[in-house]
Amino acid sequence: MPSTPRTATATRTRPREAPRPDRVWCPCRLQSVEGGGVSLIFEDGERWSCSEKELQELDPVQDGQLDGVEDICTLSIVTEAALLYSVRARYFRQEIYTRVARILISVNPFRALPIYSARHLTDFQKAKDSMELSPHIFGTGHDALRGLAENGKDQAIVISGESGAGKTESAKFLLSYVAECVKGHDGQDGLQGLEGRVLQTNPILESFGNAMTTRNANSSRFGKWLDLRFSEALHMRGGQITSYLLEVTRVCGQSEGERGFHIFFQLLQARRSLPSLGLQEPSHYRYLKNSTLEAPGIDDAEDFAKLRQALQQLGFSEEEQMQAFQILAGILNLGNCDFYNQEEEDAELGLDGESFVAEAARKLKLCEAKLRSGLLRRTVVTGRDEIETFLRLDQARAARDGLARMLYGRLFDWLIRRMNATLAMSNGGHRSGDGGATNAVHSSERLLGILDISGFESFATNSLEQLLINLSNEQLQLQFNEAVFKSEIEDCLKEGVDLGEAILYEDNSDVVALLDGKGGVLDMLDEELTMPKATDSTFANKVLKGHGATSRLIAPKFQGSASFGIQHYAATVTYSCEGFLEKNADRLPLDQVADFLQSSELPLLQELGRGLETQATNAADASPKRPVLRSSARRSATYRFRSSLRELMTKIFASETHYVRCIKPNAANRPEEFTSVMVHEQLRYSGVLEAVRIRKQGFSCRMPFQDFLLRYRCLSLLVPGSLGQGATVEMLLHWAAKQLQLPGEPQFGKTKVFLRDTTHLALEAHRKAA
Ligand code: ATP
Ligand code: MG
Repeated sequence: MPSTPRTATATRTRPREAPRPDRVWCPCRLQSVEGGGVSLIFEDGERWSCSEKELQELDPVQDGQLDGVEDICTLSIVTEAALLYSVRARYFRQEIYTRVARILISVNPFRALPIYSARHLTDFQKAKDSMELSPHIFGTGHDALRGLAENGKDQAIVISGESGAGKTESAKFLLSYVAECVKGHDGQDGLQGLEGRVLQTNPILESFGNAMTTRNANSSRFGKWLDLRFSEALHMRGGQITSYLLEVTRVCGQSEGERGFHIFFQLLQARRSLPSLGLQEPSHYRYLKNSTLEAPGIDDAEDFAKLRQALQQLGFSEEEQMQAFQILAGILNLGNCDFYNQEEEDAELGLDGESFVAEAARKLKLCEAKLRSGLLRRTVVTGRDEIETFLRLDQARAARDGLARMLYGRLFDWLIRRMNATLAMSNGGHRSGDGGATNAVHSSERLLGILDISGFESFATNSLEQLLINLSNEQLQLQFNEAVFKSEIEDCLKEGVDLGEAILYEDNSDVVALLDGKGGVLDMLDEELTMPKATDSTFANKVLKGHGATSRLIAPKFQGSASFGIQHYAATVTYSCEGFLEKNADRLPLDQVADFLQSSELPLLQELGRGLETQATNAADASPKRPVLRSSARRSATYRFRSSLRELMTKIFASETHYVRCIKPNAANRPEEFTSVMVHEQLRYSGVLEAVRIRKQGFSCRMPFQDFLLRYRCLSLLVPGSLGQGATVEMLLHWAAKQLQLPGEPQFGKTKVFLRDTTHLALEAHRKAA
């Protein structure tokens, strides 16, 4: 009886057997074939019968193939099942990393593993080639540093994955590896050296930018790109952080089971040692009332001590730190200013509200009367007249929350600007302001960038934030396609090599064009800001009308629901357009808010007020239902995001890219638990399987003739050296095919030889034995 293991998928719908949504690609053994019926048995003993025809749909697997290999490209048959099982088998052996050519798959172990020790670090430091060692995040760091040194090309490491998959931890391991390798090159060591200072940005960014969510107790609520500048001799010369889409809405409220940004809880923990802030228990503050207080695995007191140390080491004076904390205290008090009255009537402050306005004004060192009037009134310009109107309850609340969000966002930006100013100087000197420091790249310098940005998102309700995050993931996928697939094809064409069967991959450039192209969805959103009667519904209708012919755009089931679907590379997502216009307008929360903030006696608040006028639209319109009338939509929220995304993509496109695909093995964040369905989905999103398929289909190894001879000449000394390089390579391979039974058919380009995976692997084996 045949007993070849096979993998069955329960996701394929079969009319006879209900699919099991909890299973995907389960290994089973063939038990018997009788009268056209087939009996199979799964690993857990469950039996399953199907027809012989259905059996053909299952993937046959060779024995041993489910044990897991370090590099997926070395599997003789690469299927989705083999990839999934390789990753799974390794995960249970605590081998969390698996290589797919230049992509590193990293599965979150949810427990500390002894694989990041000084010994591991030295092993990689000493290695010539990271391929000599097992796949590891240090290997990716090693490759990037080698790329800088040997190829003289900027390097980019793109870390992606869903929330809780381990992106930020991976970025930190990478950074510590890089810092260790180049340590002391600037003449200073330890935390004072530039590397030390770069590492110290992490506690600051995590305190202010991370929060507990239902998916990750230490979730980054912003995207981050860290650029490190190196001299030719690999001396670190500077660093620069760019942040994307900080989730400021979290300041004013959180979903059940989540918390506000860590910094608020750290401050409240430390309130007794900071009596001047006059802080109380978290339950005292409306913005934190619904927060879950304890975040598992997070020690607020310890993290606050680390934050203080990092701030000090990065040159933030005690005075500046206290001012920043005072602004946070001001934000908390602002949140307590509530109003009363009927929904449609003018808002009024009660006794409690009055006292909190007074407290917030005291904390922020602002004029109390001005703050009160800012929260309750607005000036509307009609023609030449200015009319003062009172805000309704919902408008006053929106103004208050808008001010709190804006202050927090600006504080975060200021922290980053200040850190960048410190990282711009390689000499370790600190300066008090943030002006003047240069982070310009000299022509001989090279950049190593690390990207830690939210992966593809698809929730029950998706809004503008998800659209922007998913756009950035589409852009990254496009870059991945170009780097991994398109460049392969172009290289072959340039060298005059026939690729044989066409290489097909899912091209997503049409989705990018639909969202980000000229006249695309986001251009339309900006355009709506200039239309007097525009609403979220008119915007949704225009999108559906204007791009209805595109198969990537999906009309809602119910007409008039102000939503649309986008068929992304990873999955189809329905976006609810409610609030799109308001979010995009990004109005200033109060009248003349810039002047108002600059009137504060708190120097830091004055600074946060600077440059505000040019950043966002004016709040002159008192009606939140009407969009802002503006002559130009150039500075909308999405416009700013798209510009920074474009800048980022230009950098990544110009770099040699390394990819780290982080995988979350289970939803409960538990060690030793592997939910195949969940991992399978993430592997699909990540494009890893496509990459293997195409690599196998094409020529994974392409070497200039000279490099080939340097590496493989040792195989035979019989080949004469008097021929040209191309002819010598051809002769050597011809000899190897006969004498060493080398598999595959090499192709010869104009300057390079093209080898299939199998040929390359066999050559390497012979070279090692030679
Ligand atoms: P988010 O998108 O929400 O920011 P993320 O992908 O950045 O998520 P991390 O914060 O890096 O996820 O990881 C979540 C948690 O998983 C960490 O707090 C840590 O406990 C654990 N973890 C991640 N990677 C590792 C690792 N290599 N070793 C041990 N634990 C890890
Ligand atoms: Mg993170």
